[in-house]
Amino acid sequence: MAKKKSCNRKSKSHSHKKISHLHKIYKTKRKTKDHDQIHVDLKIKNAYELLNQSVDNDVPGAAQNYCVHCARYFVDEKALKEHFRTKLHKRRMKALETEPYTQEEAKRAAGMGSYVAPKKFEIKTQPDRQTLTSIYQETTDKDNMII
Ligand SMILES: [Zn+2]
Repeated sequence: MAKKKSCNRKSKSHSHKKISHLHKIYKTKRKTKDHDQIHVDLKIKNAYELLNQSVDNDVPGAAQNYCVHCARYFVDEKALKEHFRTKLHKRRMKALETEPYTQEEAKRAAGMGSYVAPKKFEIKTQPDRQTLTSIYQETTDKDNMII
């Protein structure tokens, strides 16, 4: 009986305090793509397609204002430009600078093969649509170039 009582008290007052920092990680409401998926999107071929989507009235701004790094749609160009200046976007770009984690890296770290530190990328805010289109038309290596 005494045991049960202490258990109840615990769940009422302090139960979830310790893991509160994990709530953000497990939240799925605002879940966007993971970093490795975005690295695929940053290839010029995919980025070009993402920034030139056909009009879709189910998403904000009819899919015409997309941030590749954050995998988010914005209502208009102004909102998108404002988003580029936010902490959220900058933090995301910083996180994207390192090469996504792969199974190969895990193997190397575990002593199989020689360890090579993950590559660093130079990540810049996406160019506007006209600039991207001209870059896209000039590049021949559309699968590898990262915007
Ligand atoms: Zn962004």
